[in-house]
Amino acid sequence: MTSHASRVLVLNSGSSSVKYQLLDMTDGTRLALGLVERIGEETSRLSHTPLVSGGAKREHEGPIADHEAALKTVATELAADGLGLDSPELAAIGHRVVHGGLKFTVPTVIDDAVLAEIERLVPVAPLHNPANITGIRTAQALRPDLPQVAVFDTAFHTTMPEYAARYAIDVATADAHRIRRYGFHGTSHAYVSRQTAALLGKDPAETNVIVLHLGNGASASAVAGGRCMDTSMGLTPLEGLVMGTRSGDIDPAVTFHLKRVAGMSADEIDVLLNKKSGLLGLCGDNDMREIRRRIEEGDERAQLAFDIYIHRLKKYIGAYTAVLGHVDAVAFTAGVGENAAPVREAAIAGLEELGLAVDAGLNAVRSDAPRLISPEYSRVAVAVVPTDEELEIAQQTYALVNA
Ligand code: ADP
Repeated sequence: MTSHASRVLVLNSGSSSVKYQLLDMTDGTRLALGLVERIGEETSRLSHTPLVSGGAKREHEGPIADHEAALKTVATELAADGLGLDSPELAAIGHRVVHGGLKFTVPTVIDDAVLAEIERLVPVAPLHNPANITGIRTAQALRPDLPQVAVFDTAFHTTMPEYAARYAIDVATADAHRIRRYGFHGTSHAYVSRQTAALLGKDPAETNVIVLHLGNGASASAVAGGRCMDTSMGLTPLEGLVMGTRSGDIDPAVTFHLKRVAGMSADEIDVLLNKKSGLLGLCGDNDMREIRRRIEEGDERAQLAFDIYIHRLKKYIGAYTAVLGHVDAVAFTAGVGENAAPVREAAIAGLEELGLAVDAGLNAVRSDAPRLISPEYSRVAVAVVPTDEELEIAQQTYALVNA
């Protein structure tokens, strides 16, 4: 048997952080994972966990000036475990790229033209794409010979029909500024909808799933036969569900009002709606664990924030049931979806007419495995399906470089 490079490094570069995982794609095992935070500050932090030969988690604090320094530190840590980035075992680097616009509908090997196009999308993803570009450039400098693949958060949603993707505004204005609904978290929605079909023992091409990705950011999608028909995030990740710090859906006139009446600038409104709203704005906490703890103590503000969050979720479950016509399953995923049983219970409560119900006993079970939480009689399955964006990025990257 000839040996074959089978490792993929997955990089998720944020403005001041880099998350990474090294996977072996012969069987999808994770070899190492870690996170560099607060890049560019005095108190940068690296936490690295080797997952081979019983290595323990290592943490370092101290200034890491930029992404290049961050990636070099990661490379040193990996090399210490015998997993260096100079290894011939490394087949490719897969990058999470937030915005791929309409052009990138599939994972793409990065060359200068691709990088230029990702750059051209910065005006529609000003917070995310620049960091992704820095991550790509840094990785290219480190291993210029290696294929680098971009896996786009928007790609899965490019199948949305035009009537779901367009805002009802003047077409010429919308087109001139590329204003439309793109959707995000696509890698997760793709992975979870497929895993949900597998859990039901069905072919994804014949399965309709409503995916509720509830992390700090949150989005819902309506997936018919593996194709996205609608999703709750729009031009940016601000639209849709109530999130940790984002408002989600809001009357657009609120923004003019804030400008005209409250005298706020566009940037101030941007910060208000993206960083100081959602659960945090409503009750001062954005972590669902803390909100549940406060509710247990009888805190009314926390209860109201929770109720607003649940009300919005229910509206999307109802809307996407109508969009799909027939629903096989509702799948909960990400930090809140996978862990917060009270959120799942409350979101499904009262939806019996839609064929939905949750079994309290099954809902209370804690597990890392995909599982059903609906009772036998439920017409529509309700499932908890842990997401794994890194595995999905690694698989797509590996499939592309071996195609
Ligand atoms: P992101 O990737 O968007 O940062 P995650 O998917 O990791 O987010 O989800 C993070 C959120 O998950 C936290 O803000 C917290 O509210 C929630 N969470 C994590 N564990 C629990 C838990 N045991 N119970 C309730 N919520 C949880």
